[in-house]
Amino acid sequence: MFPLGHVGIALGIAFVISRYLRMNLNPKLFIIILGVASVTPDLIDKPTGPLYGLPFGGRLFAHTLVFAFIVMAVCLVLWLRWSKKGTAVSIWPLLFSLGVWVHLLLDLSLEGMGVLLWPAYGVAFPSGELSWGHLTASPYAMAGEVVGAIILVYLLVLLLLGRFALAEREDRPDNG
Ligand SMILES: [Zn+2]
Repeated sequence: MFPLGHVGIALGIAFVISRYLRMNLNPKLFIIILGVASVTPDLIDKPTGPLYGLPFGGRLFAHTLVFAFIVMAVCLVLWLRWSKKGTAVSIWPLLFSLGVWVHLLLDLSLEGMGVLLWPAYGVAFPSGELSWGHLTASPYAMAGEVVGAIILVYLLVLLLLGRFALAEREDRPDNG
């Protein structure tokens, strides 16, 4: 999967969950945190490929279950700490972790289990056979980009119309 698919689909899933749970979230923070989380594995792995002696574009440690569980553990600790303080920000770490999981899920069908289950098949990572040129060759990646773009446009329209505000409207006391 590629940026539009990752960002759009992660935002869409988190948006549906947040709406369902009627979370009172800041739309701009929501977009920034989910947007960053949804591409975090690529932001880490794409530039660091040469450190492993691999070409740019590979999937490495940040595309493993080990990484996702470490991020989730850190996020859960932050959530527990911030929940005790009763701060409204306690949900952000959970949404960040969700974004990382959605990334791995979307990459799953493109990627063999070797990287995901690292180091079960050995500590060395396979070379980055999935480069940007892969986009035009993969109907799955193309479909993901289109779906992601549609979701992003939809959310952008909601934002411009002032209808993005998740649960804020429903929870706000009626002054009328
Ligand atoms: Zn990736």
